[in-house]
Amino acid sequence: MSHRKLHATATPRQDTALTRVGRSSPHGPACDDAGISPAYANPPLVRASTVLAGSLREWRERAALPTRDKPAAAYGRFGTPTTQAFESAMAELESAHRALCFPSGLAACTISLLALAPPGSHVLITASVYWPVREFAEETLTQLGCTVEFFNEIDADGIAARLRPDTSVVYLESPGSLTFEVCDVDHIAARCHAAGVRVVMDNTWATPVLFRPLEHGVDVSVQSATKYICGHSDCILGVAACNEETWRAVATMATRFGQTASPDDLYQGLRGLRTLGVRMRQHGASAVTLAHWLAARPEVMHVFSPVMPGHPGHAEWKRLYDGASGVFSFVLKPVPEAVLARFFDSLRAFGIGLSWGGFESLVVPVPSGRTLAMQQVQGGGQLVRIAAGLEAIEDLVEDLRQALDSMIDVSSLALSAQVA
Ligand SMILES: *Cc1c(COP(=O)(O)O)cnc(C)c1O
Repeated sequence: MSHRKLHATATPRQDTALTRVGRSSPHGPACDDAGISPAYANPPLVRASTVLAGSLREWRERAALPTRDKPAAAYGRFGTPTTQAFESAMAELESAHRALCFPSGLAACTISLLALAPPGSHVLITASVYWPVREFAEETLTQLGCTVEFFNEIDADGIAARLRPDTSVVYLESPGSLTFEVCDVDHIAARCHAAGVRVVMDNTWATPVLFRPLEHGVDVSVQSATKYICGHSDCILGVAACNEETWRAVATMATRFGQTASPDDLYQGLRGLRTLGVRMRQHGASAVTLAHWLAARPEVMHVFSPVMPGHPGHAEWKRLYDGASGVFSFVLKPVPEAVLARFFDSLRAFGIGLSWGGFESLVVPVPSGRTLAMQQVQGGGQLVRIAAGLEAIEDLVEDLRQALDSMIDVSSLALSAQVA
């Protein structure tokens, strides 16, 4: 008996695709004695190091295959059916040739760079890149003889002007970490390809729900699945979705460095995908409300978010992206540390902590030296990254209101103490 095909209909809309991707694993359960083969809604969670062969002939056949072409038949490090389910799901969602999983988002970023930037080549990286990727480029790529150059441009002309004959990779992060500038991705990719340069892009902010970089000419879309894809603040996972031209190079580098991910975390990633669409709508709607609400507050000097008119790349965001995710940042007017502490310590709905993409709302103070955009904010102030979770928006607004009000209380108290 064959089951109704999951993919029988025409190209499904994205919400539908999210419920189906990764479910057509060829490693479904065998028929039972009664000839019934059960179909489970979820792919099996398979943990394995050893994969047994049934005979010498089978062993020899398998040994002849490149491990990355038939991963689940070789050895646990190359993947199990759970790995295949997650990788095929991500490849489908990102319109990629194939996707590769990594033990962290950072590993997906660094291995992709290592794979595509040969020693001695010139590498261009956005200045608003995730900080640990900057450190990897500055400390490790340079050890391999690469010349690393950071750029502030988000437009194709500006980036094309920096290309050199020895440039191997342009690395984008859009929107950029901390200040969320959006790149003119498709035009940048076209100019890079015309010059024979590969484009890697960090798509963690958007996820494939809001943006699919490979449909706009990017070669490798890397992301931290730790964030929205897993979505529950309980695992660390990375993914690189590659086109046909780059997949083998990235896969080979990943194999050389022993990159793999735990089937348990991959299973959480698959589970997260099922609800990614509805979660992103709530994260995005709350972030848009909070960004506008904060922008109107007297304590707030600036809001960095692609949804704000006038933000660098706002037009590109409207043109390219299918909405907003939950992360943006804002600058609090300069106040003494004790007053700043009142704001952070008064928050109840928001936690203070790193990462984002989970169900819970977070704030984190960011060192302003890490972003050039902050130099444009007159007089400095504290940069705060904010991640809208899935709580009721009324509770989030109320929490920010009382925390900002508590700052005013304490500063007027300090003032009256001085007067007295
Ligand atoms: C968190 C993050 C990473 C790194 O991901 P991990 O899973 O924490 O290793 C990379 N890029 C961006 C934009 C991130 O926010």
